[in-house]
Amino acid sequence: MGLFDTPELRAFRSDVRAFIARALPQELRAATCAGLHLSRMQMAAWQGILGRQGWGAPHWPAAHGGPGWTALERYVFEEECAFADAPPGDVLGLYLAGPMLIAAGSAAQCARYLPPILNGTEFWCQGFSEPNAGSDLASLKTTARRDGDMWVIDGTKTWLSSGHYADMLFLLARTDRQAKPQAGLSMFIVPMSTPGLKLDPILTIDEGHSVNALFLDDVRIPADHLIGQENRGWDYAKDLLARERVNNAQAPRTKADIVRLDAMARTLCDAAGKPLIEDPVVRRRLSTLTADFLALESAVLGVIGRQMRGGEPGPAASTLKIRGSELQQRVTETAIALLGTRAIVLTPGYGGGPCDAAASGWIERHLFRRVVTIYAGANEIQRTIIAKSILGM
Ligand SMILES: Cc1cc2nc3c(=O)[nH]c(=O)nc-3n(C[C@H](O)[C@H](O)[C@H](O)COP(=O)(O)OP(=O)(O)OC[C@H]3O[C@@H](n4cnc5c(N)ncnc54)[C@H](O)[C@@H]3O)c2cc1C
Repeated sequence: MGLFDTPELRAFRSDVRAFIARALPQELRAATCAGLHLSRMQMAAWQGILGRQGWGAPHWPAAHGGPGWTALERYVFEEECAFADAPPGDVLGLYLAGPMLIAAGSAAQCARYLPPILNGTEFWCQGFSEPNAGSDLASLKTTARRDGDMWVIDGTKTWLSSGHYADMLFLLARTDRQAKPQAGLSMFIVPMSTPGLKLDPILTIDEGHSVNALFLDDVRIPADHLIGQENRGWDYAKDLLARERVNNAQAPRTKADIVRLDAMARTLCDAAGKPLIEDPVVRRRLSTLTADFLALESAVLGVIGRQMRGGEPGPAASTLKIRGSELQQRVTETAIALLGTRAIVLTPGYGGGPCDAAASGWIERHLFRRVVTIYAGANEIQRTIIAKSILGM
């Protein structure tokens, strides 16, 4: 399935593979393979190992601690992590907060907040959505008002991924009620230990705790916790959401999943004892997934290449988000179809046996991935963006 099989990339890949084989603790590999939500300690352990190797933030500029890899090297690294069942990095710090601070934050903010993200000692969460402001984010009602050298924030946020183990929150709040909705928003850094914050867990369909509601009552933060300029928050949020959509295509993890499905179809047999792969319907389903994946992969690489040359993903991010998220759901649906009731037996979280590289963890993945067509901007909204920005409708 390799599209870019040059000797240099092969050598790079083998270095990365050897490092992961040496450095990744078995307990972390097993938890990732089982599709479980990882604890803060588990996430921090792997991020610390990568940070010490200088690989903590593959896509950050070298000046801010990135390893200086090309887009392809970064992609190969992510693929190797996926195939080895290494935990995914802290998306909120590494992919959202960090790049936003690099683009819009002050030098002092970068110096204070970037190193702990790299080393896995500080975690972030994202406070954009509100009970009545998800797709229509610009209608959000949380306010921030200036009081001397402090900002005072009041409101309610919801769906905060990882909020229960985050140290820091980046938050979008209304600073000008007279301006039109998008023009009156600003972005803030809020330490999660600030008095006036109350976090409530939200349990999801996979029976995991990964998201939370947050209530902010007279939360006071110093004036220098504003990111960039006052009332420019919508611009920073738009850039951040575009990055989030590219990341949400999750091409390397989907590639590893498809290889796993193929292995499963070769090992598992039907009631008559015939390997599933011999069934033409199964073969057709796997080949269609593989073909659709290759189309996604080449589109993702195109956008990553553009970003590395200083360009923006633009509306293409919406197409990647739609295709990538739909593919992730089709992959788990195929796994459940292949496994049938065996999916339950092979899933540790549901009382099943030890992790099996090909066949375990599919129920957790299948249930949690209902969300991938919703978060980072629901797919219906992405279709409207494409209609307007690409098709000119
Ligand atoms: C597990 C999970 C984790 C999340 N993590 C975070 C997080 O860390 N931080 C954060 O800020 N947010 C987070 N979100 C929130 C997420 O971004 C929102 O759920 C998403 O933007 C949709 O908003 P909503 O839930 O309010 O649904 P709504 O906006 O109410 O949409 C409901 C349905 O109506 C459709 N719809 C709405 N408007 C239109 C329209 N104009 N045209 C066509 N269809 C439309 C939507 O597509 C959707 O199908 C998370 C959500 C989930 C479920």
